[in-house]
Amino acid sequence: MPKKTEWTPNTDNPAFTTKVNEGISHRHSAKKKNIKKSGLKKAEFYINGIKAGNRAVLAQAITILESNAEKHFQLGQEILSAIIQYSGNSIRIGITGAPGAGKSTLIDTLGTKLSRAGHKVAVLAVDPSSSVSGGSILGDKTRMENLSREENAFIRPAPSGDTLGGVARKTRESLIACEAAGYDIILIETIGVGQSEITVRSMVDFFLLMLLPSEGDELQGIKKGTVELADAILVNKADGDNIKNAELTKHQYEQAVHYIRQATKGWDTVVALASALNDTGIEQLWDIVKKFEQNTKTSNIFYNRRKEQQLSWFRSLIENNLLDAFYADKRIKKEWRNWEDKIKNNEIAVSNAANILLQKFLGK
Ligand code: GDP
Repeated sequence: MPKKTEWTPNTDNPAFTTKVNEGISHRHSAKKKNIKKSGLKKAEFYINGIKAGNRAVLAQAITILESNAEKHFQLGQEILSAIIQYSGNSIRIGITGAPGAGKSTLIDTLGTKLSRAGHKVAVLAVDPSSSVSGGSILGDKTRMENLSREENAFIRPAPSGDTLGGVARKTRESLIACEAAGYDIILIETIGVGQSEITVRSMVDFFLLMLLPSEGDELQGIKKGTVELADAILVNKADGDNIKNAELTKHQYEQAVHYIRQATKGWDTVVALASALNDTGIEQLWDIVKKFEQNTKTSNIFYNRRKEQQLSWFRSLIENNLLDAFYADKRIKKEWRNWEDKIKNNEIAVSNAANILLQKFLGK
């Protein structure tokens, strides 16, 4: 039985149709095997392959970028440095929604249309559950059957077994690799829980929140904060008996968005209806994205946001690396338990203990 994540209901809830795939318990060995099988090549091999748009080489390069092993890190950085100049030429779209909202169905329908229209579509995923369960329910090819058969599409499941910060770094780097390989539409899927939406918002141009039609006037347990991140809200499953509720939900959210902060300056959050399953409202959704891109490029907000995102990524890398270095420090590790005990027993003020340890780390 696959391990369940903590937000999974215990009962068989028909609304909760997403299944959690079993995780790979020895992910590092699995990845190493994967890299080993094809043999680690020189950076040029990956750089040229990516530039030529070779999907298999792109996948191998991403495996290297996702690896936590020191030897892969150097190679990964070499590849990244060479391809970064070819990146940036895409529209980056984040898609969030509770499990069962229809994210993968939408990505399948929309992505297939776009691929067939000549776009190159890459699907990446940021999955907060993967660090808990070791498995990923996002970016799973079996959930995007049509798209996975398209030559112009590249689907990558969420990197697993890492902190959200780690996953975010890897996803940003994968995004760069995909862009350098010529993918002009990047879809980043995430689940509408916790911090992951904020993380994805910080790496995309356009953010879409997917909702289900509902009867109640409660705003579906979706936090106001999440609505504030969205450039568009899509009420999915507007088909069959759901249509009336879908319209009701659309109306409620249209009212609600008047009272919240715009996610993007100069752009009013749009609320729309769709049926990802029956392919209705999908082209209209794409029109919204295009209009958003046009508006924000004209006003320069598009480009300014990207620059700001680069800077905040830079800052967060510094912060993450400092944290990692702190916890990996031998002196800190050795004394850590001791300090924890002192704190638990109220033998020292927390701020004082933190200060002493930081000074030690800084070698003062
Ligand atoms: P995700 O967990 O958000 O990725 O949701 P899925 O895309 O896996 O969809 C969950 C379930 O809802 C699946 O059984 C889909 O077939 C179904 N579904 C998705 N979109 C629609 C839709 O537009 N209409 C209806 N009726 N069902 C849908």
